[in-house]
Amino acid sequence: MKIIMLGAPGAGKGTQAKMIADKYGVPHISTGDIFRANIKNGTQLGIEAKKYMDQGMLVPDELTVKILLDRVSKDDCSRGYVLDGFPRTIPQAEVLENALNKIHDQIDYAIDVDVPDENIINRMSGRRACLSCGATYHVVHVPPKAEGICDRCGNELILRDDDKAETVKKRLVVYHEQTQPLIDFYTKREILRTVNGTVDMNVVFEEIVKILGEKA
Ligand code: ADP
Ligand code: AMP
Repeated sequence: MKIIMLGAPGAGKGTQAKMIADKYGVPHISTGDIFRANIKNGTQLGIEAKKYMDQGMLVPDELTVKILLDRVSKDDCSRGYVLDGFPRTIPQAEVLENALNKIHDQIDYAIDVDVPDENIINRMSGRRACLSCGATYHVVHVPPKAEGICDRCGNELILRDDDKAETVKKRLVVYHEQTQPLIDFYTKREILRTVNGTVDMNVVFEEIVKILGEKA
């Protein structure tokens, strides 16, 4: 089962991708998490990616595509994966499609988690992230059991640098310009499915399970 999560920054892609990964036993692959791990470890890739991420811009395709193709070629991806935050541009989608075509494979579904821009700023200012295991919380909607501590791994939760209101506004502009065209791209391939992302996260997940049901 190969799934792509689409949606604006903060729509709940990561939240749903983790639930899908847990239920169906496939890895959750977030390019944002990979970049943040590289920033934390001070790698050259991290230093380069941070310049773009802090400004709310996309990391160039040349850097992003390579790390994604390396990741999906690992053994744990043999039964599929959930991609969260990739592709974010048409060229990225084309590279992925060509790579899969070469091995006579394809993406099963692109799931668009639909949340209007008005809801996004509130979501992002309340988001708290764990840089160790990638879990995300919301101070009001999805609070951790102990304030500031990750339920999953016990590490400290942070407010991401790029979740400040000004950066989120820029990320939304970038989303509409560069990422939203993917909705058309996957509609044409007849694999786009849209879910309402404004309801409780468990209700969103029920909708997704209905879509994926026959693939389980
Ligand atoms: P994305 O991966 O699309 O950027 P996240 O999954 O990190 O988004 O979610 C953004 C924020 O919104 C997080 O703080 C998360 O806990 C919260 N969130 C996710 N889904 C919902 C939901 N259905 N209702 C309310 N808040 C949600
Ligand atoms: P995310 O964790 O998915 O919200 O991503 C955080 C940031 O990482 C984005 O705002 C981009 O700067 C960068 N990023 C993550 N995935 C990609 C991608 N597929 N293409 C380009 N930049 C990306």
